[in-house]
Amino acid sequence: MTDAHLLHWLRCPYCGGSLGLADNAALVRTDDRIESGVLGCDCCAFPIVAGIPVMQTTDVTRAAIEALEAGRHDEALLTLLEVDDLNRELVRGWLRAGGPPTFRAGVDGLSRDAEGVWAIFRVADPTSTNTEALLDALCTSPPVIRGPVLDMCGGFGHLSWWLRARLRNVDLCIGDMFFWKLWLAGQFLAPDALPVCCDGNAPLPFARGTFPTVVLSDAFPYIWHKRMLADEMMRLCGEDGLIVMPHLHSSLGDNHSAGVTLTPAGYAALFAPMQPHFFRERTLLAQAVRGEGLDLSADASPEAVGDDAAPTMLACRNTDVFTRYPEVEPPPVQGQLCFNPLYRVTESEGQLHLVVAFPTDDYADEFQLCLTYLPETLTLPGDVLDRARLQPMALDVVALRRQRVLLDLPRRYC
Ligand SMILES: [Zn+2]
Repeated sequence: MTDAHLLHWLRCPYCGGSLGLADNAALVRTDDRIESGVLGCDCCAFPIVAGIPVMQTTDVTRAAIEALEAGRHDEALLTLLEVDDLNRELVRGWLRAGGPPTFRAGVDGLSRDAEGVWAIFRVADPTSTNTEALLDALCTSPPVIRGPVLDMCGGFGHLSWWLRARLRNVDLCIGDMFFWKLWLAGQFLAPDALPVCCDGNAPLPFARGTFPTVVLSDAFPYIWHKRMLADEMMRLCGEDGLIVMPHLHSSLGDNHSAGVTLTPAGYAALFAPMQPHFFRERTLLAQAVRGEGLDLSADASPEAVGDDAAPTMLACRNTDVFTRYPEVEPPPVQGQLCFNPLYRVTESEGQLHLVVAFPTDDYADEFQLCLTYLPETLTLPGDVLDRARLQPMALDVVALRRQRVLLDLPRRYC
């Protein structure tokens, strides 16, 4: 992302002012992006490290600025990654090698909790199946989704990856409060998005009307200042904008790690100026699995989703969006086709034997719905992966992609 993008989009989250780039020892530019530097407004200074503007003011960001201004760029990065003494050498090794060997190794090395398992298998879970079907609908020609797109609380960049497969030419920005996730996003799932480290519990650090589309998946209930975030999302997308929120935990349903949930009516009230519509996740998943496309024309009141655990919310004043979308072909492959990581794969006599192997009992409990579309066991020709990579749109390959046995993943994913 260029200087122009960066300075045009970003604003101070506190004073709202435009930002300038200090011309000092911190500043490192490559051809197409600002690698590191210090941004300043009338009230604060913010570091840019590894191409990521960090729009927060904490002891950690102050330490990073100090390191940058002393020309210690690696130290600034290690500070923001919050690497402890135990894995400091591991991460230094990655930096010498140009990055972690795989996404999985990066998550394992930097994650502090069980979220790592969730992150790696994110590509395989029912929410991903639903979200990809929703993006298939909203990106069909002419696309309802217009750029630039903000993927707020976008974390490791999974949603940006799925969006990029369908819309090659929109500008993408990922906002997340965790620097280390954005750092991994830039290396694996969202290499060409602008990552911005920012807190969903504070005013968002962007100019009004910057993003005609704002997406936020599976994170809104973890935000305490929901009214402010809803107002901020509406400020950024403007009156003609679109807000897309797949997998919005409802207090009327059962959710693992639910966060502080509201009823669908509660969420509807927050986004009332944008006329939000709600869809049962179970209904959308069933349509996606049956290959029917998605019907977004059905009754969409908050009451209509009943006790669905995590409905999808779409908010947009243009009612043309709420229509029936046909099934479309899978998008062109942007990484490479791989087996869904939920499968354990063994080989014998020229054939591959796939068996679903959930990573943990908790995961199996939370994501049983996978088995509504993934065959529990499957035998395939030994050369299926080579052939799928050569002919990703062959009929039998497309069938395996629709079943989510084969997934388009970044190289070195796991
Ligand atoms: Zn300011």
